[in-house]
Amino acid sequence: MTPNPIPFFKPLISEAAIRDVERVMRSGWLTTGRYAKEFETAFAKYVKADYALALNSCTAALHLALDAIGLKQGEEVLLPTNTFAASAEVVEYFNAKPVLCDVRRDTQNIDEKKIERLLTRRTRAIMPVHFGGHPCEMDAILKIARKHTLYVIEDAAHCTPAYFKGKPIGTFGDITCFSFYANKCITTGEGGMAITDNRKYHERMKMMSLHGLSKDAWNRYDKRGSWYYEIVDRGFKYNMTDVAAALGIHQLKEANRLWKLRREAVARYHRLLKGVPGLLLPIELPHVKNSWHLYSMRVTSAKTGRDEIIQRLTDAGVKTSVHFIPLHLHPFYRNKYGYMPADFPVANTSFEQSVTLPLFPGMTPAQQVRVAGVIRDALA
Ligand SMILES: *Cc1c(COP(=O)(O)O)cnc(C)c1O
Repeated sequence: MTPNPIPFFKPLISEAAIRDVERVMRSGWLTTGRYAKEFETAFAKYVKADYALALNSCTAALHLALDAIGLKQGEEVLLPTNTFAASAEVVEYFNAKPVLCDVRRDTQNIDEKKIERLLTRRTRAIMPVHFGGHPCEMDAILKIARKHTLYVIEDAAHCTPAYFKGKPIGTFGDITCFSFYANKCITTGEGGMAITDNRKYHERMKMMSLHGLSKDAWNRYDKRGSWYYEIVDRGFKYNMTDVAAALGIHQLKEANRLWKLRREAVARYHRLLKGVPGLLLPIELPHVKNSWHLYSMRVTSAKTGRDEIIQRLTDAGVKTSVHFIPLHLHPFYRNKYGYMPADFPVANTSFEQSVTLPLFPGMTPAQQVRVAGVIRDALA
């Protein structure tokens, strides 16, 4: 008999959010409108940034961010190998090169000590990815960026919210990109946000997110009425709908409560798994606050491997995942750039040992006891 399955993730959507989404559906205005604007204003305030642009994904936000800093063909962007496809593919959109960097053993974030040796004359930007919501070493990264005149575009897909030395992620780089994908800390189903303190970047991203249409034209030619627009660049279609934004507004109001629930669940996993031999549990360095988007642990046991742990959990009805298959191991990047596993020793080991346990706001203590029990038995 298979026990009740435990999902990898399940979003917690309030009744108030559902009612508001319904209100949008009945309103007659479904696409970008006042809800998107309200979500932007609230999100900018939440991460203490001047400007926020609501988009249909974090991938779109990253793409627009690289466009806003003027990334050109043949240039390079430095990013960690331990990330999702999106972080690198947006660099490829420009026929620029994603230069992959190894990660730290403790946080699995980009190893700031290995950044400088990878810089070339063509490097334009560093893209830190805050893995699982644990902030990267932003002091060190900003210092390198200043020294070499590089932009910092943050992949903060996991960071609603996360803090580095008391300041929210969203206040460090030139542009910071958040995700509201279905299993992220807060969700709009699909969605993202691009944050910046720079008005020019914000306006460029806003224009390019909607076909490169200029709204200034409405002011310049207002005699012609509101139907007039000018195409000033070939843009994209990346705007967020009001249907999604209505959900986002509620999720953002709940973000701190959802975070508290994740933190409690993490503390419980820590207690249940502490002292089990052959495990390296995820951490939170003292100077940061982790969003705890992921409970990604490493199986270091010599006799029981990561794959066996995943199999045992699967057999027990527990869904798991692995974050991430490093980019340098994927055929596209391996073949195109000749990345060698030997250049990423820490990421390789981490990857082979990694398993991410289910973690979501409504997870019950009994479910966590079950998950931990399977792992304890396997490693006993
Ligand atoms: C989810 C994710 C993205 C992409 O987010 P979307 O909103 O799905 O485009 C980018 N980077 C990382 C690290 C992610 O986990």
